[in-house]
Amino acid sequence: MPISHATISTTEDIVRPTLVEVSLARLRDNFHAIKEYVAPAKMMPILKANAYGHGLVQVAQFMQELGADYIGVAVLEEGVLLRQAGITIPILVLGGVLGNQIPHFLNHDLTITASSIAKLQNIDGAAKELGRIAKVHLKIDTGMERIGVHYYNAEGFLRSSLACQNIFVEGIYTHFANADAADLRHARLQLQRFQDVLSFYSRHGVERPPLVHAANSGAVLQLPEARFDMVRPGIMLYGVYPSDVGRSVIVKPALTWKSRVVYFKVITPGHPVGYGSRWQTDVATRAVTVPVGYGDGYFRSMSGSAQVIIRGAKYPVVGAISMDQIVVNIGDDSAYNDDEVLLIGETNGTSITVEDLAAWAGTIPYEILTNINTRVPRLYME
Ligand SMILES: *Cc1c(COP(=O)(O)O)cnc(C)c1O
Repeated sequence: MPISHATISTTEDIVRPTLVEVSLARLRDNFHAIKEYVAPAKMMPILKANAYGHGLVQVAQFMQELGADYIGVAVLEEGVLLRQAGITIPILVLGGVLGNQIPHFLNHDLTITASSIAKLQNIDGAAKELGRIAKVHLKIDTGMERIGVHYYNAEGFLRSSLACQNIFVEGIYTHFANADAADLRHARLQLQRFQDVLSFYSRHGVERPPLVHAANSGAVLQLPEARFDMVRPGIMLYGVYPSDVGRSVIVKPALTWKSRVVYFKVITPGHPVGYGSRWQTDVATRAVTVPVGYGDGYFRSMSGSAQVIIRGAKYPVVGAISMDQIVVNIGDDSAYNDDEVLLIGETNGTSITVEDLAAWAGTIPYEILTNINTRVPRLYME
């Protein structure tokens, strides 16, 4: 299904000056760069948490249009939303499943992650009751200790999966804890454990499920042996690297976060800024107010370190970041109401990256992206 332009917001629809621009060109380039690098492996773009803040439905429509083989989401509701939006390609829900959720998976043709023998039996029973065949990927825990059957108990799990009459075991997968690390010893250990589990199929002369997969972004970048039949890139699809190692595929950020100057004033000594009066100036200085805050996902913990770009130059955010507003010290420079303010983005070689915000907030790029919330409109740029 081609991308429906009715779902793409236009500038005229958006009145709020604080917005996220998603570059479809960047998403397309990143998608193709990864796809070419991992070929002939298939690709399952990971779209959990509102597509890492980029907009779940719009990114899914675009991925489908680009020819993605599969889509991965974290929770049932994300999958249902995509089906309701008309996404027809296969969707795997990566998280654990509870008994009362199974009929919803079946009714919306969502692929289920089975992470224990008991859950396999639940799924098999529910599918039988509904007269359906459930599509399942088996989850093996090779060293993440989150969900999945431990690699050292996997034999019985795989055996029971073969006995389920109402289940199609389409896939089997595992997940790396350290594939983005400089030290790949634990990742290689996980890979070895996974390969040992997979040897069950050849040892018993049983056909392996058609979709074996393991690689997140870190493994795509650093562990070519972990590609198997399909890869599961998340953050790198959006043009952000999972860590500072591994640049074997070049991807570029798809997201720009912008606002506008809404107020200008001069601040004089003895007049501290913001809640808690945490900052004041020694000399009279110009300042502007920008309508963004932690209520949008602009972390309060960045107070004292955050910077923004106005008219091509970087300036510090001063005082505590409020829920809805920040104050920027522009010194002796000029800025006017309506001037564009870049929170994440680049202009003429000056940039503020997701990594910068993560460093200021004391977190990782993933958390910055997934916290830009729905109060911030998304605009999709061709
Ligand atoms: C989130 C996730 C991914 C993608 O991880 P990135 O580091 O963003 O590439 C892949 N697989 C599973 C199971 C995940 O939970």
